[in-house]
This record gives sequence, C-alpha cells and structure tokens, in this order.
Amino acid sequence: MAKVTIRDVRKAFEAVEVIHGVSIDIADGEFVVLVGPSGCGKSTLLRMIAGLESVTGGQVAIGDKVVNNLAPAERDIAMVFQNYALYPHKTVAQNMAFALKLRRTDPREIEERVGRAADILGLKPYLQRYPRQLSGGQRQRVAMGRAIVRNPQVFLFDEPLSNLDAKLRVQMRTEIKELHQRLKTTTVYVTHDQVEAMTMADKIVVMQDGRVEQVGAPLELFDRPANLFVAGFIGSPS
Ligand code: ADP
Ligand code: MG
Repeated sequence: MAKVTIRDVRKAFEAVEVIHGVSIDIADGEFVVLVGPSGCGKSTLLRMIAGLESVTGGQVAIGDKVVNNLAPAERDIAMVFQNYALYPHKTVAQNMAFALKLRRTDPREIEERVGRAADILGLKPYLQRYPRQLSGGQRQRVAMGRAIVRNPQVFLFDEPLSNLDAKLRVQMRTEIKELHQRLKTTTVYVTHDQVEAMTMADKIVVMQDGRVEQVGAPLELFDRPANLFVAGFIGSPS
C-alpha cells in the first residue's frame, strides 16, 4: 500500500481552479520530488498533503487513512519550509523541542529525541546557541531537526534550499539525501530546480499548469520524456 495516495485532487481558489485532478502514489520510504516552473501548483499540492490548504476535489490519504478533513496537527507529517523561521529567543535545543512540548511529550523523551536528532545532523555542539549565532546551513539543519524529532510518517519539504548560496545548496542536497538513507522516512520534496530534482529523487513528478506531465525515475525522464515540455524542462540548464 502507498504511504501517500493522491487521487484526482483538485484545488480552486475562489472560482479559479489551479490544480486540475492530480493523482500520485508515493510508496513507503520513497523520496519523491515535485518539480515544475514557478506557479505550476507544487506548493499548493504539498500544502494540501499537509492540511494547510483544503482540498476542493478528490482524496488525499496517508497510509490507509483519508486525511481530507484532518487538521495539520492530526496528520502524521512534518514540514520544512523555505523560510524556516526559527524562534529567535529560543536555543537550538528549545527550537527542536518546542513542537514536542506543545504535544505534552514526556520531558525525558523530548531530551532523548532532541539528542538523537542533533547527533544525526551534527548539531550537538550548537544545542545551547541561538539562531543568530548560527550559519545558514546550521539554521537549515535546525529546521530539519524540528521535523525529525516529531518522528513523522512523512516529511514534506517546500524549496528548503532556495535561500542558500549555490555551494551550500549542493552540500545540503547531499545531507538531506544522507538523512533520508538513514531514516528512510517517506519524503515529498518540492523544487523548481530540475538539477536538484534529478540528483535527489527516487521518483520525479513533473508538473505544469496544475497537471502532472510525467512521473518516473530521473533516468527514465531523461531517456524517455513523455512530451516536449518534459524534454525541455529536464534538459535545460538551471
Ligand atoms: P508553485 O509552488 O509551483 O510556484 P503555487 O502552488 O504557489 O505554485 O501556485 C499555483 C497557482 O495557484 C498560482 O497560479 C498561484 O497564483 C495560485 N495560488 C496559490 N495560492 C493562492 C491563494 N492563496 N489564493 C489564490 N491563488 C493562489
Ligand atoms: Mg512554491
């Protein structure tokens, strides 16, 4: 059974439909990248999986549970954004612990989970620092730490690297992939950067104008693009 099932999903804002019946199956442990030009509906689709936008047609399921009517906190997901606003007056450890505290997790359990996440992300030496005392890459790692400590079934990333410089972006791609290899958490990752998609994905979903143009492994799309749009998009330099 798929971990995330998106079945003929539609989204309209007022009377304007922007997602026109999208279906995607995401397997347990898969790293799926949604890619496409700005405005094609990537964030909207991701936000519907997260429960941050309502679904105006079709179904979103996580595991065997239809989640269309569940609030974000009731879904077993954690999201990492592009503007990963950390709490400036909380330490790294407090930033990572916050969501667990809200959920009244046992303090010893919180300490253990934060310690483990810090270990995985190389943040052990920085736990007592404040966000302003960290580099861009370290802040990004804290944002991922906040997601990891929740131990969700699904990670959702919306262009998490677009505020970083080119060198750090390449490094963080590798780190996110290593993290995925270690935790094997099902991941949906949004980017408009086809190179990022090609290097990170198990499976790529190419979108245009609120529709899916093609779904496939990176090499499959490269070797056998379904149409001129996919060929042009995947083939062009970023
Ligand atoms: P992407 O993330 O691929 O750049 P988005 O999902 O942000 O694209 O946007 C898809 C389309 O939906 C765009 O045409 C955008 O203008 C429109 N849109 C997104 N959010 C809203 C909103 N809250 N209200 C009205 N239109 C929106
Ligand atoms: Mg977007």
